[in-house]
Amino acid sequence: MNQIYKRAIEHWGAAAQVSMAMGEMGELTAELNRFHTQNRKDRLCNLQDEIADVQIMLNQLKMMHGQLAIEEIMEQKLARLESIIDGQQQHNHSTIEPPKNVFTYEYNEDEGLTTIFANGQYVTELVEENGDPEASMNWFAKAYSMTNFALEYQHPNNTTEA
Ligand SMILES: [Mg+2]
Repeated sequence: MNQIYKRAIEHWGAAAQVSMAMGEMGELTAELNRFHTQNRKDRLCNLQDEIADVQIMLNQLKMMHGQLAIEEIMEQKLARLESIIDGQQQHNHSTIEPPKNVFTYEYNEDEGLTTIFANGQYVTELVEENGDPEASMNWFAKAYSMTNFALEYQHPNNTTEA
């Protein structure tokens, strides 16, 4: 994979790839705004596309600006993030809100893919490494309510195996 990023930088030049990165980050910002702020759930595919674009550009930026140093910084930041989360969990005694929306899922055992629905509407797909779709459901519902998303978690009431 690194080889492709290196070839892209050699082919178009670092300056062009930096411009491209800035453009792609702008496009991702616009799609995040549509999907989350404007609640445009029909834009999920567009959002996924822009996340992919930015990730590809980020990988090139890493190559151009010191990949090893950046990875070391990331490790430090992730360790710090973990310790902040661990510290906050010890002090978090918040009560669970009554659920409003119903999450359901379909599980494709062959692909380990959990498709998540909110009130019957498709929301997203998650890959569950441990083959436990309920873990995906729990992770998803928790993550979304933590970001003050419109959806709240209730027990899944639907399992379908492909
Ligand atoms: Mg793009």
